[in-house]
Amino acid sequence: MTQSAHPGTAERPLRAAIVGSGPSGFYAADALISRAGLNVTIDIIDRLPTPYGLVRGGVAPDHQNIKGVIRVYEKVMAHPGVRFFGNIKVGRDIQAADLRACYDAVVFAVGNESDQRMRLPGEDLPGCHSATEFVGWYNGHPDFTHLKFELDVEAAVVIGVGNVAMDVARILARDPHELAGTDMAGYALEELKTVRKLKRIYVVGRRGAAQAAFSPKEIKEIGALKNADLIVGPDEVAGMEGKDPAAEGWDVETKQDIEFLLKKAQEAPAGKPRQIVLRFLRSPVEFLAGPHGRLGAIKLEQNALVDDGKGDLKAQGTGQFETLPVGVAFKAIGYRGVPLPGVPYDVKKGIIPSAEGRVVENLENRKLVPGAYVVGWAKRGPSGLIGTNKGDSIATVEALLNDFAAGKTPPNLAADPRLEALPELLAQRGARWVSFEDWKRIDEEEIRRGKAAGKIREKFINIQEVLKFLDSTR
Ligand code: NAP
Repeated sequence: MTQSAHPGTAERPLRAAIVGSGPSGFYAADALISRAGLNVTIDIIDRLPTPYGLVRGGVAPDHQNIKGVIRVYEKVMAHPGVRFFGNIKVGRDIQAADLRACYDAVVFAVGNESDQRMRLPGEDLPGCHSATEFVGWYNGHPDFTHLKFELDVEAAVVIGVGNVAMDVARILARDPHELAGTDMAGYALEELKTVRKLKRIYVVGRRGAAQAAFSPKEIKEIGALKNADLIVGPDEVAGMEGKDPAAEGWDVETKQDIEFLLKKAQEAPAGKPRQIVLRFLRSPVEFLAGPHGRLGAIKLEQNALVDDGKGDLKAQGTGQFETLPVGVAFKAIGYRGVPLPGVPYDVKKGIIPSAEGRVVENLENRKLVPGAYVVGWAKRGPSGLIGTNKGDSIATVEALLNDFAAGKTPPNLAADPRLEALPELLAQRGARWVSFEDWKRIDEEEIRRGKAAGKIREKFINIQEVLKFLDSTR
């Protein structure tokens, strides 16, 4: 093929790789295959043997309706030009430069796999965890299945008031029997069933109720739990009664949140077995060791809101402190991307730097990396719901297709655009990949095992076990 030919025809399809099989990756694939007149073949590569990213490993097991979005991704996989290569890690089995040689365009959809640190004294004490770890653990994500959590304590604290904090608080608060029929990892369910002492789950926000990041739906769900009372002390919503939302600059969601919290603040607790206690305007300043060297308490500083000079309000410590005895802490203060070898990374933001979805060397020189694109949290950071990724991926694909449009010089043309190029390379490297047909067998087996245990599915929890199963049934 000559370098002047434009890929995208039946004779020379556009070859695209998408690294990451979560929502943003699938929406990018969908946008490519939906483009009228474009001939494209897509390989979706994931380091795990199983697809769907956070839909499988992040969405809470009691939110099965959200997981229904997988049906859209299955339709993408049904397209004859789309293949899945699971268990293939960029930087280990294949390098970014290999991808550049096999594909005209590479779309990075790798999400944010790590979390933000607080850099506070005591943060590494046993008992102090990130929400990422806990969520990965209860969802059977192979990176986290080995972790142990001491949950049988009288009080826990969740730091942050976003939707991840809501997930963590809710899973802790529920009677585990309510979760028994879900796809929660079996070991996590068993561990939760042993928790007897847990009475109180504090959820701590550094700013006020009107700045809370949770959605109305999520906080209302917390308020409706069978096993826990939501406690909103009058101080947490002080001065909010009768406020004019427009004058306050509250959006619809904030208005709904405040209305709900004001209502809850009036209610007496019903005496349910557990309590979720909301505390606003407080920042952790230290995690304190208790007996046995484990986390025993958290020291909080009370905050006031001050102008941040950028049109928003920020928390500022007042010098007043309080200490809450807690045996376990979960930091739900946001995710962070991890660098991928050979791919630019912005250390400050924890994302892949880009301009309109085109990967750039860095945000200062904004020099384009030919043929490299980015979508989802890896592009914009950890914000938005699953659906937010759709428009975002479409925008990046638009940039990609503009770059490849007839008459323009494509930013990268694969040296070896054959469909066999990747399988051959992986075979040479001795890398074992899991195809979509393999995944279908894994899926069926998980559902079968789940059925036997009275659950939606029982997930495989480690990669070796998945590969062994595939070998034994081939
Ligand atoms: P998030 O919505 O950004 O919330 C992060 C929370 O952590 C905020 O309350 C933030 O407070 C706080 N925070 C950040 N740094 C802090 C610090 N140093 N000290 C104390 N608090 C700190 O992030 P998330 O909860 O991780 O969720 C990520 C995205 O996934 C969100 O868009 C979320 O809606 C989505 N999600 C959705 C669902 C669902 O739909 N069910 C479930 C899970 C996640 P400030 O506001 O003051 O920064």
